[in-house]
Amino acid sequence: MQSDPSGTSNIFDLAGKIRSIEFRCAQCGTCCRCGETDSNLVMVFPDEIRSVISACALSWDSMAQPYPETFDHQNGARYTLSWCLCCENDHCHFLKENLCAMYEQRPGICRTYPFFLEDNELKVSRCEGLGQVISEHGVTTIALHLLQRRRAEDEEEQKVRQILQHTQFPSGACVVIDSEGVRVFDG
Ligand code: SF4
Ligand code: SF4
Repeated sequence: MQSDPSGTSNIFDLAGKIRSIEFRCAQCGTCCRCGETDSNLVMVFPDEIRSVISACALSWDSMAQPYPETFDHQNGARYTLSWCLCCENDHCHFLKENLCAMYEQRPGICRTYPFFLEDNELKVSRCEGLGQVISEHGVTTIALHLLQRRRAEDEEEQKVRQILQHTQFPSGACVVIDSEGVRVFDG
């Protein structure tokens, strides 16, 4: 993984860095496959799940599952703080013949892969498409989506913090806490 120690705070800086790295998707499908370590699980926000539900007429449980990293609460509850897309046979539920079956509705994390921001730094995951010529439109689109995603992550985190402070967990239950509240699931 490469990182940019100088940090990235605006779209022009970000675009410049993406332009210099270059990227064009080779459609290998690797980033849509779930590894043994869950490292490729696609984290999704509640509003992203709702957008897919309304566009693809799916149920929540058929497309999203609680993120497998869980924490223990003192009252015996077990909780996780996010959702991820369902995986089937080691690949994302939406990967069909190496293509994304919900390309127009794909979540922000898929729109920006292999790039992501961590503490304002641009980081790059392993990807076959790195170093391939990228269009100016591609540069700007990825930069924009990266900034939108960071904003969405900040908002989600803030709401989850508030819920954690003010919500009583059902004792002994398995729950997901997200920006919409607390949802019990079968753990
Ligand atoms: S983004 Fe990279 S890893 Fe994912 S399908 Fe394209 S080339 Fe493959
Ligand atoms: S939603 Fe589409 S792009 Fe994202 S991991 Fe699944 S198949 Fe790949």
